[in-house]
Formats: sequence, structure tokens, C-alpha cells
Amino acid sequence: MINPHLTVNQNGHLMIGGCDTVELAKKFGTPLYVIDEQQVRENCRLFKDSIEKNYKKGMVVFASKALNCLEMCRIVKQEGLGLDVVSGGELYTAIKAGFPSEHIFFHGNNKTTDELEMALEENVGRIIVDNIFELEELDELARKMNKTAKIMFRIKPGIDAHTHDFIRTGQIDSKFGFALENGEAFDAVRRAAALQNVKLMGLHCHIGSQIFDNRPFVEAAEVMLNFYLKIKKELGLTLEDLNLGGGFGIKYVEQDDPVGYDQFMGSVSDVVHDFCSKNDMDIPRMLIEPGRSIVGPAGLTLYTVGAVKEIKDVRNYVTIDGGMTDNPRYALYKSAYTIMIANKADQPADYTATVAGKCCESGDLIQEGAQMAKPEKGDILAVLATGAYNYSMASNYNRIPRPAMVMVKDGQAREIIRRESYEDLIRNDI
Ligand SMILES: *Cc1c(COP(=O)(O)O)cnc(C)c1O
Repeated sequence: MINPHLTVNQNGHLMIGGCDTVELAKKFGTPLYVIDEQQVRENCRLFKDSIEKNYKKGMVVFASKALNCLEMCRIVKQEGLGLDVVSGGELYTAIKAGFPSEHIFFHGNNKTTDELEMALEENVGRIIVDNIFELEELDELARKMNKTAKIMFRIKPGIDAHTHDFIRTGQIDSKFGFALENGEAFDAVRRAAALQNVKLMGLHCHIGSQIFDNRPFVEAAEVMLNFYLKIKKELGLTLEDLNLGGGFGIKYVEQDDPVGYDQFMGSVSDVVHDFCSKNDMDIPRMLIEPGRSIVGPAGLTLYTVGAVKEIKDVRNYVTIDGGMTDNPRYALYKSAYTIMIANKADQPADYTATVAGKCCESGDLIQEGAQMAKPEKGDILAVLATGAYNYSMASNYNRIPRPAMVMVKDGQAREIIRRESYEDLIRNDI
């Protein structure tokens, strides 16, 4: 089992958070997103404890684009983490959930004027400025509102770690942030220092997602610190915060082998402390922004199996009552997932099939060549580790209503997002 929190009961049914998934499917219908509250909270604490133990002066900020809804914001608030938002809608949700605005970080490479005004109005803790146009506009908006915006800059540190490997090159070709190597970032820091209504608190970088290795983070920290030193020497400016972003990998399939968070924080912490003492620099407050790793492993999606098509000498298709509308990640990135037949969780996974959705697209697949127990019409199929970037990326393609989400804990399940109705689908139609 890729997730030690999942178990199998005496009926051979997959269990999560003390609940029988087959019962959940019966009670709430399918497709159904299920999130294990205890796992989410444990993951929050793992990061928080790890940064406190290894680094001391730090803050964990949940990247809410992985899963943003009222209940998730409430849980993250209770666990004492900060919250990243990247749009007015995510900010609105956080505010409605009562999330303290001083712990909200507003990201995005093209925030609209309305979004910038909203961020200022709500007094968010930090606005992460992406480009020089945004810097100038924000300063002007803040002046009009008689405020000082606490900002950070998004930096392209020249490290790209989107895969199992990472490359250390000029990564100027990215839509996000200021480049280091052509002096763009330095010019922006100098410009910010001259503006009256913004206060530059620090710099931010985010080098990729689903990263399994410490080294790109360590290198990113070194690149950033060298830049802090340059800023200190040449501009006499000391930046308080250092934000190294998120991207910590999780286990989707057996082969995935993510590094422990504690080990990660340990090595990054050593590098920062060494660098600062060698160069007589104040130790910055460290911010990290896990998204997927907080909520991804804690989730799974349940579907009802429809037709099973065995195309001789080609492949087997097992069709489900959801698909790319509730999980577009395979269609987008060919993401690997572990599939189980939830009502046959004690049977050997000796059947190979492609899991196909119900949308009118050949590319509407959840997984190809997946191993599972032999599926039959009416079985409950579970896709594991779908807590992150599934609901948040869901759509209404083919006018398919978005599934409900339930949170499970100690054998109890409660709906935290209602299933969309057909009426919901036409709500804004005129
Ligand atoms: C997406 C994102 C994250 C979170 O990435 P994960 O891979 O989910 O940990 C953190 N910070 C920023 C700026 C992001 O865009």
C-alpha cells in the first residue's frame, strides 16, 4: 500500500479514516472525493515541527491552490500555518473562512488591478510581486489607499526542478518572476527601495513540483543567499524573509521515493546558518510553501465502474462515472496514480487496464496500464493520492457536475463540499 494510513477491513473493503470506502460511495454517491482529516493535520504538523526543530525562525504556508475550500482554510488556520492564494477567488474563500489576513500570502504572475486592490483592502501579510509593472501599480494603488504594502519578489533562481532530476541553467524562459542573471531582479530591488508605499520584506522562489531530492532546494537557498549578500553589500539593505517555495514530492505510486521533510529542513537549515555566519548576515525568517504534500496523500477519489471493454490484443478499458472533469492530471501531464478496486482490496492486483472517464475526449483517461483486481460493472474504483490538484482543477466539461467532497475522521464522514446539481450548472445561464 502506498499509504500506510489506508487499511483493508474483514470484508476486503478499502478503509480510510476509519470509514469503509464502499459505504461512503453508497451513502454519498460517486464520484466522491474523500479527504482524511487526521492525515492533513499530521502533514501540517510534520512541516511545522520540522521547521521549528531545525531552523527555529520559520513559517509553513499552505499553498491553497492544491485544495482551496472553506473547511480546508479552517483546518490550516487551526494548525497555525499561513496560506498562499493566487487569485481573488482563493483570497475570498480564505477571508470567508475567517483566515487571519496577516498570514495570507498573495501570489500570481498577473494579478489584476481588482485583485491588488482586494489584497490591499484585506491587508494581506505579503504580496509576492512578480514583475516591474506590478511593482509600480501596487505602489500607486497603495498610495491612493494610504497604505504600505509588505511585499516580496518572485525570483527565477536559475534552477529548474520539475522532474526527478534538476537542471542548473539560466531559466530566464519562465513566465514567473524576475531573472537574476540579467540584473532584472537587482534593478527591481533598487527600485522598490526607492518607492514610498511598498516595503520589500524578502524574496521568494519556487523551483518546481513533485521534487524528490534535497539538492535543488539547497542550491536554490545558496543562490538566494548570495543575492541577499549582494543586496546587503551594494544597497545596504537587509531582507527579513526568505521564501523557498514548495514542491515537495509525494508517493503516487510504489516507485516514488520522496525525501523526509525533516531531512530536507535539516540540510536547508544547515546551509542557511553556515552561509549567514560566514558572511556575517542576520538569519532570515524561513518560509516554505507545501501544497501537494499537505493534502495530496490524504485524499482519494471513488468511482463506480461501468462497462469493462476487453479489446483483444489491444487493451482493456475500465470505464468510470467521472474522469478528466474531476481529475485532469493524467490528461494534462500523464501523471501516475495507484488504482484499486475498493470492494476487492484484499484480492491480487493482477488485471491490467486503462481507466477511462465518461467525457467525449479520447484523452479522457485517468491511467493507462494500471494494475488492479479484476473489475466488474458496479464495483467501486479508488484512485489514491488525489487530495491535491484534483478538486481544485476540476471543470464542468460536458456539463458534468463536480463531485462532493467528504472529510473522514475516526470513522465519521461529513460533507465539506456539496455535489453540484444540474440546477447549479445553469445558475449563471441567462
Ligand atoms: C504551486 C506552488 C506551491 C506549491 O507547490 P506543491 O508542489 O503543491 O508543493 C508553492 N508555492 C508557489 C508559489 C506555487 O506556485
